[in-house]
Amino acid sequence: MKIFRSKTNLIIIISFLLIAGFFVTNLISYNAAKNTLRDNIINTSLPLTRDNVYTEIQRDIMLPVYVASLMANDTFLKDWVIDGEPETEAVTKYLKEIKTKYNFFTSFFVSEKTKNYYYHDGLLRKIDKNIKHDQWYYNFINKHVPYELTVDSNDAENYALTIFINHRVYDFNNNLIGVTGVGLDLERVTNLLSSYRVKYNRNIFLIDKHGLVKAHHNKDLIEIANIRLMDGIKDVATNILKVDQNSINLEFDQGNNHILLTKRYIPELDWFLIVEQNQNKAIENIWLNFIKSTILGLIVSCVVLFIIISSINYYNKRLEKLSITDELTGSYNRREFKRIFEKAVLKYKKTGMHFSVMLVDIDNFKIINDTKGHSVGDLVIQSVTRICNLCIRDKDLMARWGGDEFIFLINGNQDIALSIADRIKTQIQQDSLLAEILDNTFNVTLSMGISQYKINDTEDSITLRADGALYEAKENGRNTCIVSS
Ligand code: GH3
Ligand code: MG
Repeated sequence: MKIFRSKTNLIIIISFLLIAGFFVTNLISYNAAKNTLRDNIINTSLPLTRDNVYTEIQRDIMLPVYVASLMANDTFLKDWVIDGEPETEAVTKYLKEIKTKYNFFTSFFVSEKTKNYYYHDGLLRKIDKNIKHDQWYYNFINKHVPYELTVDSNDAENYALTIFINHRVYDFNNNLIGVTGVGLDLERVTNLLSSYRVKYNRNIFLIDKHGLVKAHHNKDLIEIANIRLMDGIKDVATNILKVDQNSINLEFDQGNNHILLTKRYIPELDWFLIVEQNQNKAIENIWLNFIKSTILGLIVSCVVLFIIISSINYYNKRLEKLSITDELTGSYNRREFKRIFEKAVLKYKKTGMHFSVMLVDIDNFKIINDTKGHSVGDLVIQSVTRICNLCIRDKDLMARWGGDEFIFLINGNQDIALSIADRIKTQIQQDSLLAEILDNTFNVTLSMGISQYKINDTEDSITLRADGALYEAKENGRNTCIVSS
């Protein structure tokens, strides 16, 4: 494809595919892990926590409801009231017994007839319709529900916030004779929710059916905050407060956090249990893993790219070298000579610097091949190349023309070329290595033809003249150098 023809394009495409591939794969696995975790939280772990907490709450908070119901049906209490509330000590002892046995914060009885408020330490006072703090009693008996839970300050215990369980008491003819119940220290409930929070690592709280926070690990919110007004959760408050849906999973955004929520209606309390999970915190580890693997992927991509680029460069250079050199001798080939010749022509036209072409051919090379073998012939060609290279200067160039023939581009006029030819001739005769290859049985000689560059010469015309001179040298008995006229 055309696009792959440039090395830079190829590297850009490989880099893009590698990095994009790593990134997209990582992103897909991050999303898959995130969705699996999310599904798990929404469908399994959050409802499980909700139901566990529900069970625990039933055990911890429902107990006072049952005890209040027990007290309301206790014949001792009924008889005592019907008898005209004779001895305060008797009911005090009874209430104290209940408080101590179940480790409640308080226990009480309010008589409908006398309006006396008895608690575990005796008679507190008479309740009064006109006192605001006593309104709970009148509100409750007007509600016609068997029992209720309220959060109120307890004036028998330094006005500490208390969850009261109020229960109606009837005589044997079903007439209301008072309200009894127990109080749970709100601190205890708060601690309970805090322990759930630690145990399940989730936000757990209770609200009434109007959305008012009834129990929360943060005491400042109790009886003050309403989910209808709280940031984020207010968007789903209407759904939470639907009593007809026993349990439901919802989600909303709170600032930068995405919150997953589940609720459960607690009919005995007429409250809702809310369990919240911060999705951002839950997927924090997956996100960190995504960042880590992306960085690792980038590092690996860079290393792979470095290896690819180095290999491309290495093989490119090798290919370039192979395309301009001759395999047997390692000297330049005919194609490269043509390029260098054209450069020399340009240089001549610019500077007027003379240059000459010299063709060199090994004399009677066929005989070497025939008598010593082709591989010895190869060694001779390599030796001649080595010796010639030693005799030319850096600014001169030698290329293999083909077979046992070499071509030289000598920077200088024909006289300089002639002196180099003489040097080569002498060196060939003196070279002991070459003599050794041929077991000193054969004297290698060269015939050479020189032609100096003339204006308007082409590669063909100048080599043709050099070839003519070489032919003449062969004709003149070989081992000689002729300069073309
Ligand atoms: P002359 O003095 O006229 O040049 O005689 P010559 O025997 O050298 O004849 P010519 O230059 O025509 O012969 C070249 C021979 O070189 C012919 C060919 O088989 C041989 N030859 C060509 N290339 C190679 C090569 O790479 N290795 C070897 N060993 N021989 C080669
Ligand atoms: Mg020859």
